[in-house]
Amino acid sequence: MSNDQTVIEQFETDSPEETFELGKTLAARFGVGDCVAMVGDLGAGKTAMVRGIAAGLGVDDIRLVSSPTYVLAHEYTGLVPVYHLDLYRMTDPDAELIDLGIMEMLDTGVVLMEWADKADQALPQSYWQITIDIDGPEERTIALGRIGAP
Ligand code: ADP
Ligand code: MG
Repeated sequence: MSNDQTVIEQFETDSPEETFELGKTLAARFGVGDCVAMVGDLGAGKTAMVRGIAAGLGVDDIRLVSSPTYVLAHEYTGLVPVYHLDLYRMTDPDAELIDLGIMEMLDTGVVLMEWADKADQALPQSYWQITIDIDGPEERTIALGRIGAP
């Protein structure tokens, strides 16, 4: 996909807990209609970040927050509906996103998407992107950016 990311802010974390807390803080910037794309290697901390954002959006039981595998999407109840998608195992991510109803999800809630870089046309015209780079066993560089027109 074309990946013209405008980096808004960059952070560094030194533990999974710090990434969780960062997600909780960043959640204040997200609301209904926002898609947040999580990009980073396996084990980077995408799910950890989703957990923090979900907590910040008012999802009480974050133990429920895990990568959707057998089902392709999880829905959590927060202050607004929070949808958690993971494109890792999808064979045709664009088609599956449309089938899952990504546009309808965005009408009512926030969409948090792991491995979003596997999709292309089915992504909204404009969305947030959180890129996580692994710098060491517990060190991560985390960039918050915007893709597409505001
Ligand atoms: P992903 O969803 O990107 O595959 P997960 O969030 O499932 O990654 O897992 C991240 C792994 O990395 C966990 O085992 C976590 O404990 C570990 N980890 C170590 N340091 C960090 C950090 N700073 N932020 C997030 N996860 C970290
Ligand atoms: Mg994950």
